[in-house]
Amino acid sequence: MSAYEVVIGLEVHAQMLTASKIFCGCSTRFGAEANTQVCPVCAAFPGVLPVLNRQAVEFAVRTGLAIEGEVRTVSEYSRKNYFYPDLPAGYQITQYELPIVLGGHLEIEDEQGRRRRIGITRIHMEVDAGKSLHEGIPGASWVDLNRTGVPLMEIVSEPDLRSAEEAGLYLKKLRALLRCLGVCDGNMEQGSLRCDANVSIRPKGATTFGTRCEIKNLNSIRNVQRAIAWEMERHIEIVEDGGSIVQETRLWDANKGETRSMRSKEEAHDYRYFPEPDLPPLLLTEERIAKIRAALPELPEQRRARFEADYGLSGYDAGVLTAAMELADYFETALGVLREAGFQDPKGVANWVMGDLLGYLNRSGLEIGDSPVSSTQLARLLIMVLEGTISGKMAKQVFGQMCASGGEPEAIVAEQGLAQVSDQGAIAAAIDAVLAANPAQVAQYRAGKTQVMGFLVGQVMKATKGQANPGLLNTLLTEKLKG
Ligand SMILES: [Zn+2]
Repeated sequence: MSAYEVVIGLEVHAQMLTASKIFCGCSTRFGAEANTQVCPVCAAFPGVLPVLNRQAVEFAVRTGLAIEGEVRTVSEYSRKNYFYPDLPAGYQITQYELPIVLGGHLEIEDEQGRRRRIGITRIHMEVDAGKSLHEGIPGASWVDLNRTGVPLMEIVSEPDLRSAEEAGLYLKKLRALLRCLGVCDGNMEQGSLRCDANVSIRPKGATTFGTRCEIKNLNSIRNVQRAIAWEMERHIEIVEDGGSIVQETRLWDANKGETRSMRSKEEAHDYRYFPEPDLPPLLLTEERIAKIRAALPELPEQRRARFEADYGLSGYDAGVLTAAMELADYFETALGVLREAGFQDPKGVANWVMGDLLGYLNRSGLEIGDSPVSSTQLARLLIMVLEGTISGKMAKQVFGQMCASGGEPEAIVAEQGLAQVSDQGAIAAAIDAVLAANPAQVAQYRAGKTQVMGFLVGQVMKATKGQANPGLLNTLLTEKLKG
């Protein structure tokens, strides 16, 4: 056990899912050819004026309400001044003193079911910068302004996270919430969700904070966790050697698996924030906020509570199923198909989704959206079990084939002759044959040694190649043994 604990705060930059940029009409589409989504506003020509995108404001408000933060009726834009080639205006428009959302929280839960509330300090809106391209261009750099002016939300957590794992849980939770709200696609590889981590250590039980370092631009949950774990070890080593931590900004090198210094506090920028003169304060009426609140979708936490109440699922099961909207939708669609066929089996469906389906997807490195078995197909497979057409054991086998070949459950069962024999005459004939071949066991049974029943059932199953409907077999056999 380490004598230290790590203190982590995360700043998440979420690209909002607006069709156009925050202050002009240019497209925000990802992957377009460089500098094809640029206008005089993006390129900061003199004399142009920004016009605020209503949708971006609504997205920020939606997010603020979902984390139970205070959505402010007055917020302001500031200019954050610095010089860099990918920032043609020489300043970034951001909310500095009066952000749109103050306060809020998210609940995280670890595998043991321990829940913790992580505070959120603020959400502010800002614009993204362009991109400098250095690779493959000897002696020069290119600048792509397609991203310039893309609307971002910066979601700043309190320093409430206490391990790299917790940081990962928080990010997953936040990503699921943003996706559910439809405000960000959460795609970390494409940069629509990026994260800076503030990391410090302190002796366990201490209440003051140690000197922190900021690790910039982490682009996957795994890298966030690796970078924090590595940085924590670095701090402990320095402190145990009698040194002290230098407050600085660091970069994560995923290839080397280490962080390196980018700039120290002394070299830090003085941004000279001042209110943006081209944009008036952003005013929101209580009516507009109430309207946005009324239109919020069912949030992951609410859905989880409903799964527990309506379907009788455990907190753990409900948590797994609602961790991603697509998975919860999959589960509920399958239940709907079952209901139409006259069956109710939420626990059974949950077991299949969490066990067989997620197991297969994890092993194959697939997301639920890429599942080779659709929710309807899985439901039809389960209906065949509930109707007694196939046994649960056979269903597992059919499911494996559906994953491998993408086939329909009914077709696989028919092609391979897997259907259970529910034909009373056929089972009765098999029973008669078995009883005739085993007179000693029949006599034992009739003399009160009822445990030979298991042997006789096994014989009939063998005779029907395991396809006799077990319920029907038991009933018929008991009747015949009574004589
Ligand atoms: Zn533009």
